[in-house]
Amino acid sequence: MQKPQRTATPFLGARAAAELIAGQGLENCLRGMAKSIQNDFQRWHAFQKSSRLASHSEAGVIELMPISDGVHYSFKYVNGHPNNGELGLPTVMAFGLLADVRTGLPVFLSELTLTTALRTAATSALAAQHMVRKGCKRMALIGNGAQSEFQAMAFHALLGIDTFHLFDIDPQATRKLSQHLYAAGMNVILCESIFDAVQEVDVITTITADKTRATIVTPDMVRPGVHINAVGGDCPGKTELHPEVLRTARVVVEYEPQTRVEGDIQQMPASFPVLELWQVLAGHAPGRLNESDITVFDSVGFALEDFSALRYMHGLAARSGKLQAIDLIPELHNPKNLYGCISAKEQQPAC
Ligand code: NAD
Repeated sequence: MQKPQRTATPFLGARAAAELIAGQGLENCLRGMAKSIQNDFQRWHAFQKSSRLASHSEAGVIELMPISDGVHYSFKYVNGHPNNGELGLPTVMAFGLLADVRTGLPVFLSELTLTTALRTAATSALAAQHMVRKGCKRMALIGNGAQSEFQAMAFHALLGIDTFHLFDIDPQATRKLSQHLYAAGMNVILCESIFDAVQEVDVITTITADKTRATIVTPDMVRPGVHINAVGGDCPGKTELHPEVLRTARVVVEYEPQTRVEGDIQQMPASFPVLELWQVLAGHAPGRLNESDITVFDSVGFALEDFSALRYMHGLAARSGKLQAIDLIPELHNPKNLYGCISAKEQQPAC
């Protein structure tokens, strides 16, 4: 077996990732990432999949999300703490790693807080491309926090949606989002309530954070033909849609075993029918059957999206010279002499 040449790990930090995405243009990155995610969903059976491992507490959840296609292995560490804002911290923070299956050597370590916002939005827009009615122009955005700009920009980049009806229980969050969307050339309508926001729209995106069974969307808000992109309900006990909204809808999920536990469909019986996104993206099942269908993408976030996002960001960062080499793994002249790292006489250059 050939020896790995170097053990230094290519690393992309939060600041470098932000510069990279800003330099490439957010919409270009969203389109590129969506393509990468689509390609990987289309080879669904190549992946060794599992639900994520969640550690719950009163304050939130910390999760590990592993996956492998037999060539690369990846995992993401991610949290969800809805009250973190009071401590000056984001609700969602993440980092992750891509490794070579042949040797186990880490080949890319990256921030994934910003990358998660892009991959979540890219996946939502990708699903919506197969689920919305033709000619969509308007989207309601309920929940105007950290993820919201990325959702709006992804729906603009991939579907041409340019008018956004905004509502959040925190008016400052709505002000922040509206300023960013105005600056990006979008039409923005500020709304007094969720009910107000969902009138006249083609798509309803819910991306709220609350560790509870919230009912953001109720049956009286949903008109025939609307597509609901439900992103914020992603944990046991944390939902956004009234069960009656789901009962009448065509529902697409990422990975059924995980979404049955974490998604809005946790409220439904185990026999409630759903499609998996790969079936829709591979052309095995249509996302929408007719113009009057109510469609729901019950997004919780699946490890495959992080795998695709890590590979996409790795390629982009390598081409742009943004990777930094860090010594995550000791470099050993004799792989059996780990002790040599700490022995004064034997210390090797990289230890
Ligand atoms: P955030 O805390 O930055 O923003 C959430 C916003 O929701 C806040 O502005 C809050 O005021 C608002 N909100 C809470 N309850 C509301 C209500 N009843 N009506 C209207 N607005 C309400 O969080 P974020 O990083 O934007 O994440 C939002 C949610 O998305 C979280 O629950 C997170 O876990 C989830 N998320 C899901 C995925 C996925 O893949 N499905 C990925 C990332 C984040």
